[in-house]
Amino acid sequence: MALLEVEGLKSYYLTSRGEVKAVDNVSFDLERGESLALAGESGCGKSTLGFSLINLLPPPGRIVGGSIRIDGIEVVGMPEDRLRSEVRWRKISMIFQGAMNALNPVHTIGRQLAEPLVFHQGVSWADAISRAREYLELVGLDPDIVNRYPHELSGGMKQRAVIAMALLEHPDLVIADEPTTALDVIVQAQILNLMKSLKRKLNLSIIMISHDLAVLSEIADRIAIMYAGKIVEIGPSEKVYGNPKHPYTQKLLGAIPRLRQKQERLEFIPGAPPNLLNPPAGCRFHPRCPSRFEPCDRREPELVEVEPGHWVACHLYSW
Ligand code: SF4
Repeated sequence: MALLEVEGLKSYYLTSRGEVKAVDNVSFDLERGESLALAGESGCGKSTLGFSLINLLPPPGRIVGGSIRIDGIEVVGMPEDRLRSEVRWRKISMIFQGAMNALNPVHTIGRQLAEPLVFHQGVSWADAISRAREYLELVGLDPDIVNRYPHELSGGMKQRAVIAMALLEHPDLVIADEPTTALDVIVQAQILNLMKSLKRKLNLSIIMISHDLAVLSEIADRIAIMYAGKIVEIGPSEKVYGNPKHPYTQKLLGAIPRLRQKQERLEFIPGAPPNLLNPPAGCRFHPRCPSRFEPCDRREPELVEVEPGHWVACHLYSW
């Protein structure tokens, strides 16, 4: 049994103008110790999917259908008190986008790490601080920074502290939403290496959300590409990044400068992502797709396996 099983997940934002179908019938699974990258343009639904998995979708967002099982336990529809005591932070935790800038400036790092253990798990302050020191060391920081304030740390140190915070309750799965945004490239590389080594040491499963496919391909075992609320391609990183099959993934990768390859010019994707209040019929990419043909604007393509473990939702492979 996979650690995480997501089936037919639908997360919508219920607005006065109608339902924004931000995640629409998404299915995938994740093994223990595996890392999956979620990529796509802004607004494709990748962060909504991350927030849905930990059941922290901000209103007016709501999971309206489907199933999320972690370790065999269904979490869709689980009462909030059970989610808090059994699932959130203990089985699934999340590194929120920009979390390092949301550290409370008037409390020490130690207090901010220890507080959830004291209030959620009833751990004593002394034991909670001792665990905070242990995890700060695990992420490559001097444990004595428990006594320091956020403004005394660099951006990279703050991000490491935030990662330590996400690990404190020994989760099986960590969701990292744009964990390297706002860091310079050298610190970005250090944080990615840290995530890789934590995955190995703790047998941790990781879902990494980013629009930066080059960064994701460095760390992830598999990549899932989202477009307009759907997964359109998923497979081993080297296959999706090295030999993309879906026309959208091909365009997305063509827009990234690659130092090791000769590129005449960078690609661009004409048009804009669709309005998810009223997405296009058939394949949602069809208004922008250079390869569209007869069935594309009326039949929705399903994910089909084009080579072992590599799935693509496009009529070019199934019609
Ligand atoms: Fe393009 Fe048709 Fe494939 Fe959609 S299904 S990506 S429109 S070829």
